[in-house]
Amino acid sequence: MKLGIVGLPNVGKSTLFNSLTKAGAESANYPFCTIDPNVGVVTVPDKRLDVLGEMYHTKKIVPAAIEFVDIAGLVKGASKGEGLGNQFLANIREVDAIVHVVRCFEDSNIVHVDGNIDPLRDIETINLELVFSDLEILERRIAKTTKVARNDKVAAKELELLERIKAHLEDNKMAKSFTTDDEDEQEWLGSYNLLTAKPVIFAANVTEDDLADDGASNAGVQAVREYAAQEDCEVFVVCAQIEQEIAELDDEEKKMFLEDLGLEESGLEKLIKASYHLLGLISYLTAGEPEVRAWTITRGTKAPQAAGKIHTDFERGFIRAEVVSYDDLMACGTHAAAKEKGLVRLEGKDYVVQDGDIILFRFNV
Ligand code: GDP
Repeated sequence: MKLGIVGLPNVGKSTLFNSLTKAGAESANYPFCTIDPNVGVVTVPDKRLDVLGEMYHTKKIVPAAIEFVDIAGLVKGASKGEGLGNQFLANIREVDAIVHVVRCFEDSNIVHVDGNIDPLRDIETINLELVFSDLEILERRIAKTTKVARNDKVAAKELELLERIKAHLEDNKMAKSFTTDDEDEQEWLGSYNLLTAKPVIFAANVTEDDLADDGASNAGVQAVREYAAQEDCEVFVVCAQIEQEIAELDDEEKKMFLEDLGLEESGLEKLIKASYHLLGLISYLTAGEPEVRAWTITRGTKAPQAAGKIHTDFERGFIRAEVVSYDDLMACGTHAAAKEKGLVRLEGKDYVVQDGDIILFRFNV
């Protein structure tokens, strides 16, 4: 899963990205390496893995991971090819979801590109670029489809859809809020890969003082919350500067630091959880020799496809899954005890995998 961090210049994107990648670098076990400085891998915090690691006497723990891409340089006029605008928009097209950083902090030392702090205006500026870019895609597609539509009913139907989405975007709305019950239309809509159809999380970047009440007394944050509620987006309040400081600390120091601020978890942990939630993702777990590991799947995934995350052979040769829920395993103390109590279930190919399932797959090779 890949998330793109966007926002106007000087809102705190790089600060947030740097703290993310620093925090993410901790997990030496994650079998993933990247040399692109704009891409960082962050592991998904999951206390269950450590508990399982102790139970199975293994130190090799592989958490689930999310990739973050720092997409700097999105400015007014980007869709018109200003600066490297089009390149940035192309980068956004490749991500699964967008983290839109919005500046809600005052600091006279840090220039705002448009003079003053106004989160809604900033959101609109960025959204407009995304809308323009989507309109360009639609127009190209309309031109192509128009020719075919003269003597092709299917193309005519698609053309009609394209015109409707276009009108929706011209109304300054995001493709996200365009809905259709028609299956053909849903498939076409998905195939356009529109930027404004992607899920969005707003990261309201505030000062340290605004953290304790989660931004409730910051008018800018409130405005972002109202906007996000209308557009069905998530919001999380963060202080990028503090995150950067937290990322430098070890676990024990970090705990004390957060307690001092009256917080239970860091903004990054909140962000990672929010992204997971937004994208409808859950983790199932594997435990034993040689490792304890979390695997990311979409909610609703059935056992064979979940197995396919480990290896395509597991999916192809799937026979059954031996499943015990994390809570049942904890209640029993050992896998053997859970089995004795009948809590280790044998599930077939229609089983929908649940978050926290600990699974052993049986398969033919
Ligand atoms: P970007 O252009 O969006 O990547 O912004 P940067 O991350 O480079 O941040 C721009 C400036 O704002 C830097 O000097 C940061 O130190 C500062 N900054 C970032 N986050 C915060 C914050 O939460 N509070 C304050 N006061 N300054 C911040």
